[in-house]
Amino acid sequence: MTKKITIAIDGYSSCGKSTMAKDLAREIGYIYIDSGAMYRAVTLYCIEKGLFNGKEIDNDKLKEEIDHIHISFTLDPSTGRPRTQLNGTDVEDRIRTMEVSSRVSIIAAIDFVRTALVALQQEMGQAKGIVMDGRDIGTTVFPDAELKIFVTASAEIRAERRYKELQEKGENANFDEILANVKERDHIDETRAVSPLRRAEDALLLDNSHLTIVEQKTWLIEQYHKATQA
Ligand code: C5P
Repeated sequence: MTKKITIAIDGYSSCGKSTMAKDLAREIGYIYIDSGAMYRAVTLYCIEKGLFNGKEIDNDKLKEEIDHIHISFTLDPSTGRPRTQLNGTDVEDRIRTMEVSSRVSIIAAIDFVRTALVALQQEMGQAKGIVMDGRDIGTTVFPDAELKIFVTASAEIRAERRYKELQEKGENANFDEILANVKERDHIDETRAVSPLRRAEDALLLDNSHLTIVEQKTWLIEQYHKATQA
């Protein structure tokens, strides 16, 4: 039997990490965990509980409530994809809005939020056989992951992809607004004090600006086979 490993996929916002991570997990029979969905769920909680005042967050109140925020995933039987649950309620669609996207990096920069979510992520990955995507999976969550990929693409290409995705869902999309959001999130993610977005030294770099989904998938499977044979 092939040995089970941990696969960490990190990189910039909207560069197709989750699509590639999901496809890979399905192909090789691994569990897929979207760590960004967890930061998004905490953000949604803060919005709904009125913890935001404009872009300011009430840190003390959030600290009091963090232990009451429970995040889990269920598998959608029709698509085979995970759906995010917040305190037992399905929030998968509500965490993907522009409102959440524009505030999530603020929440993700808070140290006690990261401590809580990293602990949960480590628990979820304990048994290996997992593909997790995010910003700090290869550096902080699973520094010993056997396969680490760092994905990147130009900001314009990433905004274009996100724009098409929102349009396909029938949501109102404004390209300039999306591009500004992508750049803003890159900046906050790269410059925050706790676990900033950066490539782990042993991560393989994948610039997918000009790769098709099929080319990318082929490359990824090849890396998986190399890592399990190592
Ligand atoms: O991956 P996604 O774009 O859904 O992630 C939403 C946000 O959550 C990111 O912009 C980033 O600020 C934060 N994040 C993080 N660490 C992770 C995953 C996501 O800081 N491991």
